[in-house]
Amino acid sequence: MLELASVDAFYGNIRALQDVSLSVDAGEFLAVLGRNGVGKTTLMRAILGLMDRTTGSIRLDSQEIGRWRTDQRARAGIAYVPQGRGILPRFSVLDNLRFGLFANTKGRREIDEGVFEFFPALREHLSRLGGNLSGGQQQQLAIARALMVEPKVMLLDEPTEGIQPNIVEEIEHIISRINAERGITVILVEQSVSFARRAARRFVIMNKGSVAAAGPTAELDDGLVHRYMAV
Ligand code: ATP
Repeated sequence: MLELASVDAFYGNIRALQDVSLSVDAGEFLAVLGRNGVGKTTLMRAILGLMDRTTGSIRLDSQEIGRWRTDQRARAGIAYVPQGRGILPRFSVLDNLRFGLFANTKGRREIDEGVFEFFPALREHLSRLGGNLSGGQQQQLAIARALMVEPKVMLLDEPTEGIQPNIVEEIEHIISRINAERGITVILVEQSVSFARRAARRFVIMNKGSVAAAGPTAELDDGLVHRYMAV
């Protein structure tokens, strides 16, 4: 449903992605792995149309979206949970959720109460300022806001980074449930190989702006991890 072919992406004149090709099927869970600085966030930004320049082909449901504006891609069903969460700290939880509605793919204007099945704690804090939530709750809010889009595909950039270890498992579980219960395609950037192995059906390992290895997670062996992930 999302297909990249020979994608290069640039910050100014600097080429940060080189000849990246990958695809995900509808409802699939893909983990994007690799060391710091290899281009994982850049890959998310290229899919979203946030780079200075991107060449090659990006298709969503067979439609070429590689020249579309970011807001058009959002309305077409691509939601993003950026690294560092990107919530609005001075707005209430409810308002943060409402911000997600601007790109709702079905024209919905009221928040979907169904998301509180995944995030019961957020319902308790609707009037609190986003910035006053704990790190784990802010991450939940960022994911809940992305769900407001009713997306086809959700891109998550290191959602468990900087989260207390006892909350990490809860967030991993929520992401897996969103994929399984809502049928939303997930592309997850991760440093945690164990989470990728548990949750994802397929993986891509990036190195120096290119895809170095890819396959079913059953083939994500220690040799690959050592070669491309160990520091
Ligand atoms: P991390 O895990 O640290 O987030 P990453 O794999 O997501 O790393 P990117 O952030 O995509 O890596 O960075 C890929 C390359 O692009 C790096 O060499 C980085 O220095 C470079 N880069 C990132 N942002 C910019 C920018 N705004 N301008 C120029 N170069 C950049």
